[in-house]
Amino acid sequence: MRRCRFVTGMARSRPFSASWGVGIDVFFRSMNTDLPSSLGSLGNMPYLFRSSDCGKIGVSSTVATMRDQRRFELVTIDLDDTVWPSMPVLQRAEEALYRWLQRAAPALADAHHEHSLRQHRLGLMRERPEIAHDITRLRLESLRLLLREHGYDPQLAEQAVTVFLHHRNQVQPYPEVAGVLGELRGRHRLISVTNGNSDPDRTPLRGLFSGSLSAAAAGAAKPDPAIFRIALDWAGARAEQAVHVGDDPRLDVAAARATGMAAVWVNRGGGQAWPSDLEPPDAEVADLRGLADWIRGEGFAL
Ligand SMILES: [Mg+2]
Repeated sequence: MRRCRFVTGMARSRPFSASWGVGIDVFFRSMNTDLPSSLGSLGNMPYLFRSSDCGKIGVSSTVATMRDQRRFELVTIDLDDTVWPSMPVLQRAEEALYRWLQRAAPALADAHHEHSLRQHRLGLMRERPEIAHDITRLRLESLRLLLREHGYDPQLAEQAVTVFLHHRNQVQPYPEVAGVLGELRGRHRLISVTNGNSDPDRTPLRGLFSGSLSAAAAGAAKPDPAIFRIALDWAGARAEQAVHVGDDPRLDVAAARATGMAAVWVNRGGGQAWPSDLEPPDAEVADLRGLADWIRGEGFAL
């Protein structure tokens, strides 16, 4: 028999939640507080509580609905600044690339610095909107142009990008991340969704995601709903069976909610204020531990 692990419900008295039981976590909302000591034999789901049941478990109203904890078949997870800080690694990757250019293409390195190289990429992004979502391709094409301009073989650009990506993946995840992903992956499909060009399988988080989706691979960058739809297709999940978690109110939270997914905002340190023009997230958490708690608890409230 498939055991129900969560119960949510609506009734007439004040809201609360509770969890207990032998291998069973039960959440009630808006019920009275006269709970039984065990609910070990509630049975299959979905389950409609009847008056007779209410008497047994001390529920003062008549209807509650049980939901499997697998409401969220899919958890999609942003990478940069959600599972690791991006600035230190990006800075080191830019420096490594520049050092490589100083050796391999000194005339180009003499004529440019990191800021002007970035400006060149941004200019190319405006000129070629068809590749704007693919930041690796933009970097490659930008370097090809600059190398040719300074009398070097444009094919050197591929080596330069290889150097950049090697350092780009030398990330240090936040301390709780690997443990939480390890817990969640036993109950949910985990797919990373990033506009960046890091590859989780080349990082300390290797093997924790069942899929990794980049804007380059998707052909669209967040907030385009297409990237979320591909993740849903990969998982064979409907939007209402999925939750996205990320640090960016617009690119992560608002974009995922526009597709019908739930969305959790990671506000590390609590330092950011939520933008007043956006609908609030389904939950705000300080780290991924908070995400796991929310999925276990309030994520199943009606
Ligand atoms: Mg991010």
